[in-house]
Amino acid sequence: MLTRFAPSPTGELHLGHAYSALLAHDAARRAGGRFRLRIDDIDGSRSREAYVAAALADLAWLGIDRDGPLHRQSQHLGAYDAALGALKARGLVYPCFCTRADIAASLAAPHGPAGAVYPGTCRALDAAEHARRVAGEAHCWRIDMARAVARAGDLMWEEAGQGMRRADPRTHGDIVLARKDAPASYHLASTLDDAAMGVTHVIRGADLIAATDVHRLLQALLGLPVPVYRHHALVCGPDGRRLAKRDAAAALGALRDGGIDGHALAADLLAGRLPAGYSLRMP
Ligand code: GLU
Repeated sequence: MLTRFAPSPTGELHLGHAYSALLAHDAARRAGGRFRLRIDDIDGSRSREAYVAAALADLAWLGIDRDGPLHRQSQHLGAYDAALGALKARGLVYPCFCTRADIAASLAAPHGPAGAVYPGTCRALDAAEHARRVAGEAHCWRIDMARAVARAGDLMWEEAGQGMRRADPRTHGDIVLARKDAPASYHLASTLDDAAMGVTHVIRGADLIAATDVHRLLQALLGLPVPVYRHHALVCGPDGRRLAKRDAAAALGALRDGGIDGHALAADLLAGRLPAGYSLRMP
């Protein structure tokens, strides 16, 4: 078994991150397997080195040890680009020149799991126009979802302890695989890295269950192994909402500075005992 924890260094880790990292670490250790740490830092404008250092300190304080080197997404851009190139060569992605305002203006756009579904405007452009505009205009690359789904066929994944689930990526529409300002989207980078790192069990919050539809599709298109998934309940604050950066009191750095024993907190979280006011909920 190989599990991983993959924080984005765009803020401090909080109790929700601790719970996720502990579940992944504990599953690997119980099975005599390995646990790896990945830094999801493809978003260069929002990632900060100080948050990487803070995350390492937080995990050490919780008693989480890791195997192998840190896997930093910013050091694997070539792999994302190569995968995108393979999808381009098969006509499964197309360049999109729309701005956010263009997309918002198409009021009829239906909504998918991650917000408005792209109306497909640039899918309709012909190859010559794509080629001409790619050379001079800012663009992202979108998957041609209908074509990709037709190519991939029926898609299933194993949700640990719950059996097989059917992936339905169509509701996401033509999502972005490479952004205007970053070489890969979360979906492409995460799917490729889970395979490259040899992850056998993806343990992450249930807020990401819809993302698994897309990841399963990319695995099929790119010939990648399919890990087992476990989407766990989310830590919610006293207001009943899942933790976010606004919940400064739940930041691991603040708890550490307040004299909390990290190993004791880790044992409590693993046993499902949360600090007063916090709870675990499925979204
Ligand atoms: N960097 C992502 C996050 O923090 C990781 C998601 C995942 O585990 O796949 O939400």
